[in-house]
Amino acid sequence: MIFEKEKRGEGERCVRVGGAVFGGARLVLIAGPCTVESRDQMIEVACAVREAGASMLRGGAFKPRTSPYAFQGLCAKGLEFLAEARERTGLPVVTEVLETAHLSAVAEVADMVQIGSRNMHNSALLRAAGGCGKPVLLKRGMSATLQEYLLAAEYVLDAGCRRVVLCERGIRTFETATRFTLDLTAVPLLKERTWMPVIVDPSHGTGRAALVPPMALAAVACGADGVMVEIHTHPDQALCDGEQSGTPEMFYKLVKDLGVIAGAVGRTV
Ligand code: PEP
Ligand code: MN
Repeated sequence: MIFEKEKRGEGERCVRVGGAVFGGARLVLIAGPCTVESRDQMIEVACAVREAGASMLRGGAFKPRTSPYAFQGLCAKGLEFLAEARERTGLPVVTEVLETAHLSAVAEVADMVQIGSRNMHNSALLRAAGGCGKPVLLKRGMSATLQEYLLAAEYVLDAGCRRVVLCERGIRTFETATRFTLDLTAVPLLKERTWMPVIVDPSHGTGRAALVPPMALAAVACGADGVMVEIHTHPDQALCDGEQSGTPEMFYKLVKDLGVIAGAVGRTV
């Protein structure tokens, strides 16, 4: 397997996306809204998270929604707004691709292409993403074992891509107090088995904004190479995932606190 740690030297495991380096000493902090909602919303939040210390920008243009009647994203227009936000802030952009047919349009704008939890088992999309020429952020399927997750990543690697970053984002358990159960043991376990950098998404992992900072800190403490958090300037008005979205103020404080934890584990923010 290409993913196996023994197959790669320690110095080769970094994945560079613009100025952000996954797997280096400096943590990668990805922040932004769940969904690109408008030009103004995207620019406003992008400037705010950059100011607070984000190293990458997130935002969904194509949204994987549970209900077919829920807002599905601004699609091509959303990609345009993401490109403009990058221009304004200089932050590299990660955004999700839902289907192979959209891949070239997404890869044209994105600095990193995201494959979401619901598509982790979509081997055709994994292969296509692996051949698109951009780094890939592969999120863990919500019901995937770590072995299944690593084999999904192998599809991307086998397609020729070596710039793959993994993201623990919570799994389904019997617990209903949180949206998912954030499996932080995945971080050291994945690092035991693979050279790929690993980040954590405590926003989807918990579903509650108040739980995001403590779990982000815990993620860094257990060895994550970065975190991805959903930030909105008006979470109560968000079109998607407002309950788990923090404010730029929350993010500002989180970056400060992450600096303390990072220092304790030999990293920086
Ligand atoms: C997202 O990050 O926008 C997202 C939809 O997350 P997940 O695929 O983990 O549900
Ligand atoms: Mn979301």
